[in-house]
Amino acid sequence: MSPLQTIGIICFVIITLWLGVQITVLNTCLHAKRHVPTNLHILCQKEENYLLLRVFDLVKNEPQCTKLVKTLQKSVNAYDSRPRIFIVTPTYARPVQKAELTRLSHTLLLVPNIHWIVIEDSENKTSLVTNFLSKSRISFTHLNVPTPLPMKMKKEDPNWLKPRGVLQRNAGLSWIRKHVDPEEQGVVYFADDDNTYDLDLFEEMRYTQTVSVWPVGLVGGLMVEKPLVENGKVVGWNTVWKADRPFPIDMAGFAVNVSLLIHHRRAAFSLAVARGYQESKLLGDLVTINHLEPKADNCTKVLVWHTRTEYPKLKQERKLSVPSNVGIEV
Ligand code: UDP
Ligand code: MN
Repeated sequence: MSPLQTIGIICFVIITLWLGVQITVLNTCLHAKRHVPTNLHILCQKEENYLLLRVFDLVKNEPQCTKLVKTLQKSVNAYDSRPRIFIVTPTYARPVQKAELTRLSHTLLLVPNIHWIVIEDSENKTSLVTNFLSKSRISFTHLNVPTPLPMKMKKEDPNWLKPRGVLQRNAGLSWIRKHVDPEEQGVVYFADDDNTYDLDLFEEMRYTQTVSVWPVGLVGGLMVEKPLVENGKVVGWNTVWKADRPFPIDMAGFAVNVSLLIHHRRAAFSLAVARGYQESKLLGDLVTINHLEPKADNCTKVLVWHTRTEYPKLKQERKLSVPSNVGIEV
């Protein structure tokens, strides 16, 4: 074989190999193109959201897909025409914290188009809440702010009680003012981590124009506290505990239009008001009674309950030299 022939054969082999590689690459690309939706926006515009949801469904249980799930969720939310619900939840470390958050997250998983803002009452973000949220499959923001002690209000003051969730809810409000488009259709709801929520409640509040209100079960020493409604307008309250408050209503009993909140830049909760007056403080900054929109069939239905979890009995735990939960998160 002449050297020319040898070179020819070598060239032929190289070219064949190279072509082979090219065809494989091309094939893979074509395959990928057929199976992976590369342009989510166009897909959504074509109202093929179901495809996206299908992908979402397939990957949501894969821990390594958390980032992808988040991106998909954003896309799905962006094309969801329903107003978004921003759920503001203060939370603090205690034996039942993870159980409470688990229960609440399972309710929220069933509510479409929400964003959950969870604010820890702590100096630093804890790994318990960080890990919990990242595997929650809910669109969330994780913040933290500690409640300072001692408080301005003296312990001897009859109204004194450690303020619960005040600074945390304000941190949620600041985040919303900073990150949400003031023209976005949406609503803000302050959902404590220990209450019980009917799914219908979220659809009642979703289209709030100013501030919507509804009954709350098991609160204020009553089976139900509720706004009194005449001809579709709120005209008073059935409250007994501190009934002379401007808005004698529990935190769980109202939701605020997001634009209204953003445009009233100073509307907030306060450490300086007496116990039971947080709701009146925020609502007083935003509206008068005439603006209130009664929901839940003119305030005739209870869709949220101010349940409180019993502090667990840990008598045996205290006797142990090594805690039972060393190396295991409860
Ligand atoms: N909370 C908090 N720090 C505290 C106590 C409570 O952040 O020191 C949170 C708590 O997790 C809940 C909300 O504030 O989401 C209201 O607190 P709690 O449920 O104890 O109040 P209540 O049931 O009396 O309204
Ligand atoms: Mn509570």
